[in-house]
Amino acid sequence: MTDGRRFAALAAVWVFVLGLGLAGPWPGAGPARADDPAPAPDAAPAEPAAGALFTDPGAFVVPPAWRAGGSAAPGAGAARGAASRSIHRTALERLWLEAADPEARVAKAEGVARQLGVASYDAAGRALLLATPDGSAAEQAARVAHGLPYAQGALASARLRGGNVIGAGTALLAGFAALDRHLEASLWLRAHLFRAVAFACAWGGFAFLLVAGASSLRRAAHDVGDVLSDEMPSWQRLLLVGALVLLPASFGQGAFGLALGLLGLGLAAGDPKQRPALIAAAVACWLGAQPLLGAASRALAAFDADPVALAAWSVESDAAHPGELARLAAAASDDALARRALAVHARRTGDLALADERYAALVDGDAVDPALLNNAGNVRFARGRLDEAIELYQDAAAQERSAVLFFNLAQAYGSDIRSREQDLALARAQSLDRSLVGELTGFEPSFETGLAVDLPTPPGVLRARLLDAPSAPALASALRDGFAPGALGRSALVMALALAAVVAASLLAARGHVPARWCRQCGARCCPRCDDPPEALSVCRDCARTVQRKDGVDAGRQGARRVEVRERARRLLPLWIAASLVLPAVGALRGRRPLLALAGALGFALAVGASPLLPALVPDPLAAGLPGRAALGLVAGLGVAAHLASVGLSRSGRRS
Ligand SMILES: [Zn+2]
Ligand SMILES: [Zn+2]
Repeated sequence: MTDGRRFAALAAVWVFVLGLGLAGPWPGAGPARADDPAPAPDAAPAEPAAGALFTDPGAFVVPPAWRAGGSAAPGAGAARGAASRSIHRTALERLWLEAADPEARVAKAEGVARQLGVASYDAAGRALLLATPDGSAAEQAARVAHGLPYAQGALASARLRGGNVIGAGTALLAGFAALDRHLEASLWLRAHLFRAVAFACAWGGFAFLLVAGASSLRRAAHDVGDVLSDEMPSWQRLLLVGALVLLPASFGQGAFGLALGLLGLGLAAGDPKQRPALIAAAVACWLGAQPLLGAASRALAAFDADPVALAAWSVESDAAHPGELARLAAAASDDALARRALAVHARRTGDLALADERYAALVDGDAVDPALLNNAGNVRFARGRLDEAIELYQDAAAQERSAVLFFNLAQAYGSDIRSREQDLALARAQSLDRSLVGELTGFEPSFETGLAVDLPTPPGVLRARLLDAPSAPALASALRDGFAPGALGRSALVMALALAAVVAASLLAARGHVPARWCRQCGARCCPRCDDPPEALSVCRDCARTVQRKDGVDAGRQGARRVEVRERARRLLPLWIAASLVLPAVGALRGRRPLLALAGALGFALAVGASPLLPALVPDPLAAGLPGRAALGLVAGLGVAAHLASVGLSRSGRRS
């Protein structure tokens, strides 16, 4: 064996050993796992000993609270394990995993998912899509996971590949509509939209300050020099002003420090007409770096904000794993959301007694919404307690006019043989959403008993919990580091105070000062101290003579000068157009439209911030999919349009 091979073999052994070490802890490692499935607060029966957990396969599948549920207390040993597994599975899971015929499975799953209030059976939709990369199962995936934008997007691209443009558009629109109703997709999209807008404000404002400040640099350099000494050469004046502008950035304040310097430069030495736009750009920088970035990081931090809320979401989308159910059971004593998720799960596993008990406690609590009342009513309905069910539906309908609520009410009246009221409720449901009622009636024959439809927990309820993550400020500060890494960027108040101080100081410095200017026609300097410019004219003395014929300059010289000026403008025109297209704010500032220039700079930065040029903060969790990317693309297009409009309007302004 050569040395190289020996080394490779040794390395492989080490990697293997290290891998073993990292893969632990091992089942049977005793105390380390003994407290893992958290005890349920309401689990009256004694917990099995730690050792028993490892001999009972069901122990890892079913949290103790479930086994305490009474109605399905399984036997001992292997039989008990198998029984608890099947209790844990929801009706939808059982159907999906056990159905033989794939096409019938999709049709059945669609109806059962609707009945159980699974807004979108994401797990099945994703599995179908990942198993068929050619898109052949896209139609089926979008049916079982119709609330999943990713599935609708996959359907849109599959239809587009098949030449069905209108169908693709419909699927894409359905995906757009689902974006805000799907928890993960809405969080992913919020994080990226807020990041794009924050980027646009911070860097668009910065770009405007940079261009506006750079255009005032020459004047500022000359005027500061005039204050110090007449004999100062211009390169020294430029260095002096440059050092002043860079001062905050050199103290570690990054781009925000430079923005402060440029803001001061523009306000003190720039055209007074630019001042409102400069102050607006400063406000944009603050908005972008503080509240907007904060909103982006709250949406981003939501992904690992609250394990209980995330477990509740897993139950909602019918994908909760045993660990998540255990987490919910552990949190149930002081968390209404966990109790609600457990009630939903009990209903879906078919344990109506437990579901009824849990819903009854929730309905008496304070956080009651129509979906909760409706679902509680459905459990009562399924248990044959029609009067109580009708009362709950009516309570819910008093809070929200929903076709599903009136449909359920009609079902309950129908079972109670109150056909007049049934017809009224059904008509009410149809007047609210005819197509939905048609769809539900289509599912009806596949259910032996009446079809009462659960409502999903409103995504806002879960989102409100997740958007309150304690890790969000730290995340915001990490995201802010690219723009304002220093002490000034750390707090919104300090940042605002720094900007206000620079505004006040530079406006004070500019008071009573007559700035140097440059001839608009030939570019010659007209400083009231160093040169002798004509009063109240924006051109130099030479150009003024050519404009005002009465000065008696000979006609030949006048003509030659006009031609020279026009020729110069014509030569530079393509350069200016190119520059204003690829650089933000340049075109409109040259056209002396500062607010238009700021709008263009914000649009330019928005286009960059919403485009794939900026890498995703987190990968799309197979949720937003094509509709999510398309929404970001639309925002980027809006930014491009704003930039082009700014360039176009500034040119048309010049012509007129
Ligand atoms: Zn001139
Ligand atoms: Zn001067």
